[in-house]
Amino acid sequence: MTTPAVTEPVTTTPETPTYESLLAGVTAADGREVLDPATGEVVGRVVLGSPEDLDRAVARARAAQPGWAARADSERIDLLLRAADAVEAAAEPLAELLSREQGKPLNGPNARFEVGACAAWLRATAATELPGGTVLDDGGTHAELRYRPVGVVGAIGPWNWPMMITIWQVAPALRMGNTVVVKPSEHTPLSVLALVQVLNGVLPADVLTAVAGEGDVGARLSGHPGVDKLMFTGSTATGQAIIRSSADTVKRLTLELGGNDAGVVLPDVDPRAIAEGLFWGAFINTGQTCAALKRLYVHSDVYDEVCAALADVARAVPMGRGLDEQNLLGPLQNRAQYEIVARLVDAARDSGAKVLVGGDPDPDAPGYFYPATLVADVDDDNPLVAEEQFGPALPIVRYEDVDQAVAMANRLDVGLGASVWSSDREAARAVAARLEAGTVWINSHGGVHPMIPFGGVKKSGYGLEFGVEGLKAVAVPQVVNG
Ligand code: NDP
Repeated sequence: MTTPAVTEPVTTTPETPTYESLLAGVTAADGREVLDPATGEVVGRVVLGSPEDLDRAVARARAAQPGWAARADSERIDLLLRAADAVEAAAEPLAELLSREQGKPLNGPNARFEVGACAAWLRATAATELPGGTVLDDGGTHAELRYRPVGVVGAIGPWNWPMMITIWQVAPALRMGNTVVVKPSEHTPLSVLALVQVLNGVLPADVLTAVAGEGDVGARLSGHPGVDKLMFTGSTATGQAIIRSSADTVKRLTLELGGNDAGVVLPDVDPRAIAEGLFWGAFINTGQTCAALKRLYVHSDVYDEVCAALADVARAVPMGRGLDEQNLLGPLQNRAQYEIVARLVDAARDSGAKVLVGGDPDPDAPGYFYPATLVADVDDDNPLVAEEQFGPALPIVRYEDVDQAVAMANRLDVGLGASVWSSDREAARAVAARLEAGTVWINSHGGVHPMIPFGGVKKSGYGLEFGVEGLKAVAVPQVVNG
């Protein structure tokens, strides 16, 4: 019988881990192989837990929750800060494991950046003021709004930013006095198990547990009667399944379901000045980012210049194995995602669209590398525009007037992010107000901050993360009147 991949908390301060010691803590000789998407080499082996393992983890989390909630807020703050220190102390081995398993390069806005964001989010969550306070005190009535822990929080995450998104889900939940059971994506389990192992070097037993597993473990978590709130980041289809399976327990949900973010470039831009920002808005993490720019609408006055400037940037950015320090783009994380990108680019080319850069992966090269690809002269109803590519291929659609651009940007049933690019901030803000998206950036795309609320509209999900709104989302309000 194999040992389930449940991370065991430790109570002593751990030694600063090496890559080998970190990996040894989360792999098992008889586990399922986890492959490096850049090379096909074995990174490690993970033992996938069963739904019954998940039941045991939830039972432990339930038992630990009252004691965790009873601690002073200052103690939980202190532990989150110590957890941030532990992540920083393990930053290099964590980044290496993330790079090998997920594929993202060490440098640029990638593996080291992601591990750094984990520490930053833990600290920011510790520093956020708790929600609540007096809502009415008129001499006759004294009413207070308080926020209590929900109980046990389930956290189901994706494979694109596996460590950072886990921290986004876990840190506020812990701060508010909840205990947490994490279910990582089957594509990137080792990164999350290793991160949880590091956090558990400072957290008390059973406050944070991770159970690796496939969709059946996620499904058990989302329907579990012992789980009070679910934080989910992933596809809309899985989010819909979670909504259904949460109904019996009226489980609270925060759903971050990705999208198909539009960027609108107004005619007054300087194409060379915005090209880098546009490129990284679209190609961060090799396009595998929920709030990346996935379809670009450019006014015909500047269309050719914007395409040319973007193409120059795309040609210059190095792609390759993540552990090679010079690379800034990596492979797709898995074969299914590679095939989605390849199918959509091929469909666009077949329709007569023009591939400006890329679109020509080497079928004999190892790994799931798809080159940075720009597709121009593409119709708005082309599948590369209408479907989420979630990879390094950006369609660029021409428009003639801003009403047309706004209509195209709003026509899909998702709305996580959007952006407007202009040298006139007020003109950009006026267009932003018309876009149906949870966040609209001006002259940038996709930047998130631990104090700024983040969440989607339409089928991009519901609920807010980060800042005080994020704390409220992992708590239940209670009015005390009298
Ligand atoms: P999924 O939505 O299938 O997976 C996300 C997480 O949900 C994984 O941990 C998965 O587990 C788990 N899961 C799967 N089925 C269930 C279920 N019935 N109940 C509860 N949890 C479940 O995303 P994929 O990884 O399959 O990616 C598919 C598409 O989703 C991508 O092409 C992309 O468009 C989008 N996506 C969006 C992301 C975002 O940031 N919003 C991130 C990743 C993908 P397991 O992987 O072990 O099956």
